[in-house]
Amino acid sequence: IDFGFEQVPKQEKVNRVADVFHSVADKYDVMNDLMSFGIHRIWKKLTIEHCSVRKGQKILDLAGGTGDLTAKFSELVGDDGLVILADINDSMLKVGRDKLRDKGLIKNIEYVQANAEALPFPDNYFDCITISFGLRNVTDKDKALRSMWRVLKPGGRLIVLEFSKPQYSLLNKAYDLYSFHVLPFMGKVVANDSDSYRYLAESIRMHPDQNTLKQMMTDAGFGDVKYYNMTGGIVALHLGFKF
Ligand code: SAM
Repeated sequence: IDFGFEQVPKQEKVNRVADVFHSVADKYDVMNDLMSFGIHRIWKKLTIEHCSVRKGQKILDLAGGTGDLTAKFSELVGDDGLVILADINDSMLKVGRDKLRDKGLIKNIEYVQANAEALPFPDNYFDCITISFGLRNVTDKDKALRSMWRVLKPGGRLIVLEFSKPQYSLLNKAYDLYSFHVLPFMGKVVANDSDSYRYLAESIRMHPDQNTLKQMMTDAGFGDVKYYNMTGGIVALHLGFKF
C-alpha cells in the first residue's frame, strides 16, 4: 500500500504531518500503549539509559510530543539542569505540558515550538539530544540531523529512537499485516481516525533502514555512530557523538 506521503510536495507533507498530530494529540498516550502493547516504555527506558545523563546537564527532547522522555530527564538533570521539550506541533506540546505540570514537573523544563530542520538554539548548547519516533515525520531529515549536530556540545551525543526494518522475514510480514490492517482499525475504534494511523504505518515503511540512517548520521557529522536493534529490529536506537 502506498499512500504517497513521500511523493507529495514538501509543504504538503508538512501540512499532513501537522494535521495528523493535531488530530491524535489527545489520544496519543493511550494509543501508544495500545499499539505497542506497552513496549514503547521499554524502548524509551533503554533510550534514557544510553543518554548517561548527569546532574546539571542540558538535554533536548526533540519532537518530544507528550513528554515521556522529558519527564525522566527532568528527574535526572536535577534543579541545576535544563530539559527543553521541543516540538513543531502546538497541540502535542500542550498535551505534553499539561501532563508534566500535573506531575509537578515544572522547575527545569522549557517548552519550545520548533522545527527540527532549523533549531532555534545556540551552537554547542546541549549535552544530549534525543529524537524519539520523530525523525520519520521530518521532511528534510539530513537538514534536521545537521541542525542537531550544530546545537550539540562537542562530546555530546544524539540518540535517535525510531521504527526500523525488522530483521526476520516472518516478523516483517507479520509486522506489515499489523501496521496496515490492525493499526488503522484500532485508530478508527479508539480515536475515530483511521487516516492518521494509516499515515503512521506508511511513514514507518518509508523511513530509512538501520544502515541508511547510520550513514545519514555520519554524513551529518556524527562520529562513532552505531545502532542497536530492539524487538527484532521493529525499532532501532541509533547513537552518535559530536567530536
Ligand atoms: N517523542 C514522543 C514519543 O516518543 O512519544 C512523540 C513522538 S510523535 C510519534 C512524533 C512527534 O514529532 C509529534 O509530536 C510531531 O509533532 C513531531 N514532529 C513532526 N515533525 C517535526 C519537525 N519537523 N520538527 C519537530 N517536531 C516534529
